[in-house]
Formats: sequence, structure tokens, C-alpha cells
Amino acid sequence: MLPRCQVSVHYTQGRLGGHTLKYLQPLSLGASPKLHCMECLKMVESCVHPTLLDVPFKGPDGEKVSHQASSNETDLFCSGSCRARFFGKRNGASLRRQLFDLERGVCQQCGFDCHDLWQNLLTSSPERRKKKLEELAPDIKSPSKVTEGSLWQADHVVPVWRGGGLCGLENLQTLCTACHSAKTKAEARERKEEGKRQKLSSPRPTGWRNMKAGKRTIDLSDDEPHVPPTKQKADF
Ligand code: ZN
Repeated sequence: MLPRCQVSVHYTQGRLGGHTLKYLQPLSLGASPKLHCMECLKMVESCVHPTLLDVPFKGPDGEKVSHQASSNETDLFCSGSCRARFFGKRNGASLRRQLFDLERGVCQQCGFDCHDLWQNLLTSSPERRKKKLEELAPDIKSPSKVTEGSLWQADHVVPVWRGGGLCGLENLQTLCTACHSAKTKAEARERKEEGKRQKLSSPRPTGWRNMKAGKRTIDLSDDEPHVPPTKQKADF
């Protein structure tokens, strides 16, 4: 396990503006210590010079934290996609921002420019936006409060229930709310069909349907998909 460098990153803008966060960035020791990408561990080209800590300590996974440095967030990663993957696994809002930088709010299925629509809606008062949305994009079901988040979604290309949940930008695409809703319904049907197929190929033992669990009777209907539950996050 590579030792770590305690890197202080001071944020000047955004939600974290005014705060300094500390990251434990991997580093390799040699004539001059080199920092490695927080996500893929590849060596990072940067001008940051780690210095020895007066008192080394152990990180949360037992790794030795021997150095310290000040840096900015981009120097923690070898590339933008590693940065997106790292924060994306931890923060849906950050991943949505990265996706927007890449696709600018354009639906990857029908080509509808949701951000352009949002810019248009912004010229109207919040009260009028709902009506304007119905006129400009009747396929998008109007929510009670129109926000940019209600116009497009960061959709998992491989759905969460198929294991696409803990992913980076490579498994995400922009979908307008209309296309996203159609895809979600199609996937729900597919999931149900798959559940039925699995049930047929692995019949449950006799007595399963009325098995007692304490005082409760477990009774699974035939329609219920036999797919393991997932704790992974749905689209956002
Ligand atoms: Zn669309």
C-alpha cells in the first residue's frame, strides 16, 4: 500500500468556498516523492512538492501518512475523468455537473436541448414557467416546480439494478425527462420479465409460498421480480 500525503485544498468558490479540505493522496517515495492519482493511482504530473510531516500518522485504512502539501483539487487526479469518477462515486450532484460539462444538457436519445429550454424558461417568472413548459415541451410532464433538474436526468446507461450504480461518467448520459421516463418504464418491464425467467429456471422449494417467518407469512406474488434488491442510487 502506497503511503499518503495529507493534501490541503482551499476552495474559493461554490458550496465549499472559504473551506479547506484535507485529502490523503497516495505517494511514492524516492529521491523526490511523487504524488499519484486518488482514483487510478497513476503518477500525477504536478508542481506540488510534498514535505515531510513532523509527526507521521496512520490513515483510516492503516496507510502511513508521512508527507503534507497544499494543492488544488485538479492536482489530486491524473485526468478529468478520474476526478469525475472519484467524486461521482461519492456525490451525485458533482457527477451531474461533470455530465453537464460534457453534454451541455442535450438529450442523447432525441437530441432535445434541455439547457436551451431552461434558459428560455428563465426569462419568465416562476409562476409562468409551468405554462410555458407545457407549450414548448408538451412531452415533458410538468412538475409542480419547474427547475433545470426537472427537465433532464443523469441516466445510467447500464441500469443500477444491472450493476451500473457505482459508476463514473462513462456509464452516464443526459436524457430529457420524456426519454428518461420512457426508458425507465421499458427497464421496469425488462426487469420484471427477467425476474419471471429466473423464477422459471430456478423453481423455489415446495412450501416456499407459505413459509412462516415468526408470525408473518411470506407470500410472494407471481408478478414480483426475483431480482436481488439494490442499495445503489437510481438516476439523478
Ligand atoms: Zn429526449
